[in-house]
Amino acid sequence: MSKIKFATVWLAGCSGCHMSFLDLDEWLIELAEYVEVVYSPVGSDLKEYPEGVDVCLVEGGVANEDNLELIHLIRKRTKTLVSFGDCAVTANVPAMRNMLGGSEPVLRRGYLELADETPQLPYAPGIVPELLDRVLPVHEVVPVDIYMPGCPPDAHRIKATIEPLLKGEKPKMEGRDMIKFG
Ligand code: SF4
Repeated sequence: MSKIKFATVWLAGCSGCHMSFLDLDEWLIELAEYVEVVYSPVGSDLKEYPEGVDVCLVEGGVANEDNLELIHLIRKRTKTLVSFGDCAVTANVPAMRNMLGGSEPVLRRGYLELADETPQLPYAPGIVPELLDRVLPVHEVVPVDIYMPGCPPDAHRIKATIEPLLKGEKPKMEGRDMIKFG
């Protein structure tokens, strides 16, 4: 049986969802028998998101031009896209900046008003990605197949979501254990 091509990605998040993924502990060894990790900040050193990915867990909201480009590429190259954690599902913590009303006031606050020394706005086209005016949940940008809320989702929920996918089945995202936020 060929292995499932498996990826994980983090966009605008704190990496806590990935830390929770690592809490799968010894089950990760079992998982490795079924999947080939083709792209992941915690499991692969590939820099380019590959073609033909079967399952991808996406952590974080879409906050800048890099996130935007990557999530479109992920959608194009992935069969099952899982919105992984509250930041992906609702934009959650990164979206707190949305109330400031755009990228310009956010940058002004962070880099000019709160700067102790040499206040200046970051400007390095092609190096520092431009912020979007609003941080968006993943489904506002591309279609999502499965929503896995939680901040972070605990390892039990992550396992219960991934396990059916290994058998080509859809997980049942129902009940407190699977869809409670926070
Ligand atoms: S959902 Fe929570 S744990 Fe996951 S990236 Fe967002 S803030 Fe971090």
